[in-house]
Order: sequence, then C-alpha cells, then structure tokens
Amino acid sequence: MNSSPSDPQTDDDAYMHEALALAARAASEGEVPVGAVLVQHRRVIAQGWNQPIGGHDPSAHAEMIALRDAAQKLGNYRLLGTTLYVTLEPCVMCAGAIIHARLSRLVFGASDPKAGAVNSVYDVISKPRLNHIVEWRGGVLEQECGAILRDFFRARR
Ligand SMILES: [Zn+2]
Repeated sequence: MNSSPSDPQTDDDAYMHEALALAARAASEGEVPVGAVLVQHRRVIAQGWNQPIGGHDPSAHAEMIALRDAAQKLGNYRLLGTTLYVTLEPCVMCAGAIIHARLSRLVFGASDPKAGAVNSVYDVISKPRLNHIVEWRGGVLEQECGAILRDFFRARR
C-alpha cells in the first residue's frame, strides 16, 4: 500500500480488500462471506470473518469477532481511535457493539437491504440515540463485496 501523503479513499479501498480476503475465507468454511478488519493508527490490529455455523454461536459475526479480538489485545473494551472495515453493512447487534466499543469510524462495502442497521433497515449508526457518534461511510468496493455474497448464495441454491 502506497499512500503518502495519506489519501483516506485509497486507504479505505486497501483495508476493504483485506476484509474481502477474510470474507472469502468465510465462504471456504461454508459461512456467509462477510469479513472485517479493525484499524488503529493505520495498522490492522484485529480481523474477523463470519463463523456462526462452525462456532455454534449466533453472535459470531465478522464484526463481533474483530471487536472481541481487538478488545482482548488492547485490554480495553473501548476501542478508541479505531476504524472498522466490513464487507457488508452491519446488523443491529453489530451496530450496537460498534457503539458500545466507541469506535471512531465505520466503513462498509455492500448495503444490506434486509438487515442493515447503519442506514438501510434501521438507522442505529446514522441517527444514534446514544451520545456516541460514529463517523461512517458505505459503498466502498460495493461491487466486489456484493458479488462475493451473490456468488455464495447462487452456488448453494
Ligand atoms: Zn452482525
């Protein structure tokens, strides 16, 4: 990654590519392909991919796994100054966790018209009732992030 002087847009694309690689890993394990990386000071400090089926855990979404991993590493449930990159718009559970963890920023790829909780079905992140505001951006590598999901479901039909 070459981005000096820093170009936030280029950085967003680069980190989303890392999240996409994790989504592919989820697909290879038979899980819905969603991947996430958590970045602090321009360094990936945690990663996650969907594993509710394999983990027998309904909360094992890519975002939750990345947040748990980061909180353990930092020894703090508050992940201040971090940005979460996730290939799919977070659900209500993950949006809630993102707020609890006090993330600074959220970047997602494809929108989720069935369960998205940033600005699609619910507006947990975009219109927070809580006092913590998370800056957010959607639609980063939207085509790739949506295609990996469509391909996965098409193959299973
Ligand atoms: Zn979720």
